[in-house]
Amino acid sequence: KLVASRIRKAYGQHQVLKGVSLAVHTNDVVVMIGPSGSGKSTFLRTLNGLETIDQGQILIDQQDIHAKSSNMNQIREKVGMVFQHFNLFPHLTVLDNITMAAIQTKHFTPQEAKDHAIHYLELVGLANKQDSYPAQLSGGQKQRVAIARALEMEPEMMLFDEPTSALDPEMVGDVLNVMHQLAQNGMTMLIVTHEMGFAEAVADKVLFFDEGYIQEQGTPQQIFKHPANPRTKAFLNKVI
Ligand code: ATP
Ligand code: MG
Repeated sequence: KLVASRIRKAYGQHQVLKGVSLAVHTNDVVVMIGPSGSGKSTFLRTLNGLETIDQGQILIDQQDIHAKSSNMNQIREKVGMVFQHFNLFPHLTVLDNITMAAIQTKHFTPQEAKDHAIHYLELVGLANKQDSYPAQLSGGQKQRVAIARALEMEPEMMLFDEPTSALDPEMVGDVLNVMHQLAQNGMTMLIVTHEMGFAEAVADKVLFFDEGYIQEQGTPQQIFKHPANPRTKAFLNKVI
Protein backbone atom coordinates (compact mmCIF):
# COMPACT_ATOMS: atom_id res chain seq x y z
CA LYS A 1 0.00 0.00 0.00
CA LEU A 2 2.55 2.63 1.10
CA VAL A 3 6.18 1.85 0.40
CA ALA A 4 8.90 4.37 1.22
CA SER A 5 12.37 3.41 0.00
CA ARG A 6 15.63 4.97 1.18
CA ILE A 7 14.20 8.46 1.72
CA ARG A 8 16.83 11.13 2.17
CA LYS A 9 16.23 14.77 2.97
CA ALA A 10 18.45 17.61 4.13
CA TYR A 11 17.74 21.15 5.27
CA GLY A 12 20.83 22.94 4.04
CA GLN A 13 23.79 21.09 5.55
CA HIS A 14 21.62 19.25 8.03
CA GLN A 15 20.86 15.72 6.84
CA VAL A 16 17.56 15.00 8.57
CA LEU A 17 16.47 11.77 6.83
CA LYS A 18 19.39 9.47 6.05
CA GLY A 19 17.71 6.65 4.16
CA VAL A 20 14.35 5.74 5.65
CA SER A 21 12.55 2.68 4.31
CA LEU A 22 9.14 1.60 5.46
CA ALA A 23 6.17 -0.39 4.20
CA VAL A 24 2.72 0.17 5.64
CA HIS A 25 0.17 -2.41 4.55
CA THR A 26 -3.58 -1.98 4.39
CA ASN A 27 -5.17 -2.10 7.87
CA ASP A 28 -1.77 -1.80 9.57
CA VAL A 29 -1.40 0.43 12.60
CA VAL A 30 2.22 1.53 12.77
CA VAL A 31 3.48 3.64 15.66
CA MET A 32 6.68 5.64 15.39
CA ILE A 33 8.54 6.68 18.54
CA GLY A 34 11.82 8.49 18.96
CA PRO A 35 13.55 11.54 20.39
CA SER A 36 12.80 15.15 19.59
CA GLY A 37 14.52 16.45 16.48
CA SER A 38 15.18 13.00 15.04
CA GLY A 39 13.13 13.65 11.88
CA LYS A 40 9.79 11.96 12.62
CA SER A 41 7.63 14.89 11.54
CA THR A 42 9.77 15.54 8.51
CA PHE A 43 9.35 11.92 7.45
CA LEU A 44 5.57 11.96 7.91
CA ARG A 45 5.32 15.15 5.90
CA THR A 46 7.20 13.58 2.99
CA LEU A 47 4.57 10.83 2.88
CA ASN A 48 1.74 13.07 1.79
CA GLY A 49 3.82 15.47 -0.22
CA LEU A 50 3.91 18.32 2.32
CA GLU A 51 7.69 18.04 2.17
CA THR A 52 9.93 17.34 -0.82
CA ILE A 53 12.56 14.60 -0.76
CA ASP A 54 16.13 14.65 -2.09
CA GLN A 55 16.44 10.93 -2.79
CA GLY A 56 14.40 7.77 -2.61
CA GLN A 57 10.88 6.92 -3.63
CA ILE A 58 7.44 6.90 -2.04
CA LEU A 59 4.84 4.68 -3.65
CA ILE A 60 1.21 4.85 -2.63
CA ASP A 61 -0.83 2.22 -4.47
CA GLN A 62 2.11 1.90 -6.89
CA GLN A 63 1.98 5.62 -7.62
CA ASP A 64 5.21 7.57 -7.16
CA ILE A 65 3.94 10.57 -5.21
CA HIS A 66 7.03 12.69 -5.76
CA ALA A 67 7.01 12.16 -9.53
CA LYS A 68 6.54 15.38 -11.46
CA SER A 69 3.35 14.02 -12.96
CA SER A 70 1.71 13.21 -9.64
CA ASN A 71 -1.36 15.07 -8.50
CA MET A 72 -0.83 16.39 -4.99
CA ASN A 73 -4.51 16.98 -4.32
CA GLN A 74 -5.20 13.36 -5.11
CA ILE A 75 -2.38 12.25 -2.80
CA ARG A 76 -3.72 14.36 0.05
CA GLU A 77 -7.17 12.90 -0.48
CA LYS A 78 -5.72 9.43 -0.09
CA VAL A 79 -3.46 10.21 2.84
CA GLY A 80 -5.12 12.21 5.61
CA MET A 81 -3.04 13.99 8.21
CA VAL A 82 -3.74 15.09 11.77
CA PHE A 83 -1.30 17.52 13.37
CA GLN A 84 -0.28 18.34 16.91
CA HIS A 85 -1.87 21.79 16.62
CA PHE A 86 -5.22 20.93 15.00
CA ASN A 87 -4.95 23.60 12.27
CA LEU A 88 -8.68 24.37 12.23
CA PHE A 89 -9.93 27.57 10.59
CA PRO A 90 -10.98 29.85 13.47
CA HIS A 91 -13.56 31.78 11.44
CA LEU A 92 -15.42 28.65 10.28
CA THR A 93 -17.88 26.55 12.24
CA VAL A 94 -17.04 22.95 13.04
CA LEU A 95 -19.30 21.80 10.22
CA ASP A 96 -17.70 24.16 7.69
CA ASN A 97 -14.21 23.19 8.83
CA ILE A 98 -15.05 19.59 8.09
CA THR A 99 -16.85 20.07 4.79
CA MET A 100 -14.91 22.84 3.08
CA ALA A 101 -12.08 20.86 1.54
CA ALA A 102 -14.35 17.93 0.72
CA ILE A 103 -16.79 20.15 -1.18
CA GLN A 104 -13.90 21.61 -3.17
CA THR A 105 -11.85 18.54 -3.95
CA LYS A 106 -14.24 15.61 -3.72
CA HIS A 107 -17.07 17.42 -5.44
CA PHE A 108 -19.58 16.47 -2.79
CA THR A 109 -22.72 18.56 -2.85
CA PRO A 110 -23.06 20.67 0.29
CA GLN A 111 -25.79 18.33 1.53
CA GLU A 112 -23.70 15.19 0.94
CA ALA A 113 -20.73 16.81 2.64
CA LYS A 114 -22.91 17.80 5.59
CA ASP A 115 -24.41 14.32 5.94
CA HIS A 116 -20.94 12.78 5.96
CA ALA A 117 -19.66 15.38 8.40
CA ILE A 118 -22.46 14.65 10.85
CA HIS A 119 -21.68 10.96 10.60
CA TYR A 120 -18.01 11.58 11.42
CA LEU A 121 -18.89 14.03 14.21
CA GLU A 122 -21.00 11.27 15.76
CA LEU A 123 -18.07 8.91 15.41
CA VAL A 124 -15.78 11.27 17.33
CA GLY A 125 -18.46 12.03 19.92
CA LEU A 126 -19.19 15.64 18.93
CA ALA A 127 -22.54 15.50 17.16
CA ASN A 128 -23.79 18.45 19.22
CA LYS A 129 -20.91 20.76 18.24
CA GLN A 130 -21.52 21.24 14.52
CA ASP A 131 -22.37 24.94 14.84
CA SER A 132 -19.63 25.80 17.33
CA TYR A 133 -16.49 27.70 16.43
CA PRO A 134 -13.05 26.27 17.28
CA ALA A 135 -12.52 28.87 20.01
CA GLN A 136 -15.56 27.44 21.82
CA LEU A 137 -14.04 23.95 21.99
CA SER A 138 -11.51 22.33 24.30
CA GLY A 139 -8.23 21.12 22.86
CA GLY A 140 -9.42 17.54 22.85
CA GLN A 141 -12.62 18.52 21.07
CA LYS A 142 -10.66 20.51 18.48
CA GLN A 143 -8.45 17.53 17.82
CA ARG A 144 -11.48 15.27 17.38
CA VAL A 145 -12.88 17.79 14.87
CA ALA A 146 -9.55 17.65 13.05
CA ILE A 147 -9.86 13.87 12.91
CA ALA A 148 -13.43 14.16 11.58
CA ARG A 149 -12.19 16.60 8.96
CA ALA A 150 -9.52 14.15 7.85
CA LEU A 151 -12.08 11.32 7.71
CA GLU A 152 -14.43 13.44 5.60
CA MET A 153 -11.91 13.15 2.75
CA GLU A 154 -12.37 9.37 2.92
CA PRO A 155 -8.63 8.72 3.10
CA GLU A 156 -7.16 5.29 2.55
CA MET A 157 -4.60 5.99 5.20
CA MET A 158 -4.10 8.46 8.03
CA LEU A 159 -0.94 10.03 9.42
CA PHE A 160 -1.00 11.36 12.98
CA ASP A 161 1.82 13.60 14.19
CA GLU A 162 1.76 13.69 18.00
CA PRO A 163 -2.00 14.28 18.04
CA THR A 164 -2.25 14.39 21.83
CA SER A 165 0.93 16.14 22.87
CA ALA A 166 -0.62 19.62 22.91
CA LEU A 167 -3.56 18.48 25.04
CA ASP A 168 -4.25 18.75 28.74
CA PRO A 169 -3.89 15.30 30.29
CA GLU A 170 -7.61 14.86 30.87
CA MET A 171 -8.30 15.35 27.14
CA VAL A 172 -5.80 12.80 25.91
CA GLY A 173 -7.95 9.75 26.55
CA ASP A 174 -10.87 10.99 24.43
CA VAL A 175 -8.62 11.46 21.41
CA LEU A 176 -6.82 8.14 21.90
CA ASN A 177 -10.18 6.39 22.21
CA VAL A 178 -11.25 7.78 18.85
CA MET A 179 -7.97 6.63 17.29
CA HIS A 180 -8.34 3.23 18.89
CA GLN A 181 -11.79 2.93 17.38
CA LEU A 182 -10.50 3.91 13.94
CA ALA A 183 -7.85 1.23 14.25
CA GLN A 184 -10.48 -1.35 15.15
CA ASN A 185 -12.54 -0.27 12.14
CA GLY A 186 -9.56 -1.14 9.95
CA MET A 187 -8.14 2.28 9.17
CA THR A 188 -4.54 2.15 8.00
CA MET A 189 -2.60 4.43 10.32
CA LEU A 190 0.92 5.71 10.89
CA ILE A 191 1.13 7.48 14.23
CA VAL A 192 3.93 9.44 15.86
CA THR A 193 3.24 9.51 19.58
CA HIS A 194 4.78 9.47 23.02
CA GLU A 195 1.79 7.55 24.40
CA MET A 196 3.52 4.25 25.00
CA GLY A 197 0.54 2.53 26.60
CA PHE A 198 -1.58 3.37 23.59
CA ALA A 199 1.17 2.20 21.24
CA GLU A 200 1.42 -1.08 23.05
CA ALA A 201 -2.35 -1.61 22.91
CA VAL A 202 -3.01 -0.58 19.31
CA ALA A 203 0.12 -0.97 17.19
CA ASP A 204 0.78 -3.88 14.88
CA LYS A 205 4.30 -2.58 14.48
CA VAL A 206 6.43 -0.10 16.43
CA LEU A 207 9.33 1.78 14.86
CA PHE A 208 12.09 3.44 16.81
CA PHE A 209 13.32 6.44 14.87
CA ASP A 210 16.57 8.20 15.77
CA GLU A 211 19.10 10.37 13.97
CA GLY A 212 17.37 10.15 10.62
CA TYR A 213 16.94 6.38 10.53
CA ILE A 214 14.53 3.73 11.61
CA GLN A 215 16.88 2.13 14.11
CA GLU A 216 14.68 -0.76 15.13
CA GLN A 217 11.23 -2.11 14.39
CA GLY A 218 9.10 -4.91 15.71
CA THR A 219 5.93 -5.84 17.50
CA PRO A 220 5.04 -3.74 20.56
CA GLN A 221 6.10 -6.72 22.66
CA GLN A 222 9.53 -6.83 21.01
CA ILE A 223 10.19 -3.10 21.15
CA PHE A 224 8.81 -2.35 24.60
CA LYS A 225 9.76 -5.57 26.40
CA HIS A 226 12.85 -6.77 24.57
CA PRO A 227 14.47 -3.90 22.65
CA ALA A 228 17.59 -5.11 20.87
CA ASN A 229 19.15 -1.76 20.02
CA PRO A 230 20.85 0.06 22.93
CA ARG A 231 19.48 3.37 21.65
CA THR A 232 15.94 2.05 21.85
CA LYS A 233 16.60 0.84 25.39
CA ALA A 234 18.04 4.19 26.45
CA PHE A 235 15.13 6.08 24.91
CA LEU A 236 12.51 3.88 26.56
CA ASN A 237 14.25 4.19 29.92
CA LYS A 238 13.94 7.94 29.63
CA VAL A 239 10.30 8.11 28.59
CA ILE A 240 8.59 5.27 30.42
P1 ATP B 1 9.79 16.35 17.67
O1 ATP B 1 9.64 15.07 18.43
O2 ATP B 1 10.33 17.45 18.51
O3 ATP B 1 8.53 16.75 16.96
P2 ATP B 1 10.86 15.38 15.14
O4 ATP B 1 11.45 14.03 15.28
O5 ATP B 1 9.48 15.48 14.60
O6 ATP B 1 10.93 16.11 16.55
P3 ATP B 1 11.54 17.09 12.93
O7 ATP B 1 10.51 18.14 13.22
O8 ATP B 1 11.30 16.21 11.78
O9 ATP B 1 11.85 16.23 14.24
O10 ATP B 1 12.90 17.86 12.73
C1 ATP B 1 14.11 17.19 12.43
C2 ATP B 1 15.22 18.20 12.28
O11 ATP B 1 15.00 18.98 11.12
C3 ATP B 1 15.33 19.17 13.44
O12 ATP B 1 16.69 19.40 13.70
C4 ATP B 1 14.69 20.43 12.91
O13 ATP B 1 15.24 21.57 13.51
C5 ATP B 1 14.99 20.36 11.43
N1 ATP B 1 13.94 20.98 10.62
C6 ATP B 1 12.65 20.62 10.58
N2 ATP B 1 11.95 21.35 9.71
C7 ATP B 1 12.83 22.24 9.18
C8 ATP B 1 12.73 23.29 8.21
N3 ATP B 1 11.58 23.57 7.58
N4 ATP B 1 13.85 23.97 7.92
C9 ATP B 1 15.04 23.69 8.53
N5 ATP B 1 15.19 22.71 9.44
C10 ATP B 1 14.11 22.00 9.77
MG1 MG C 1 7.71 16.26 15.33
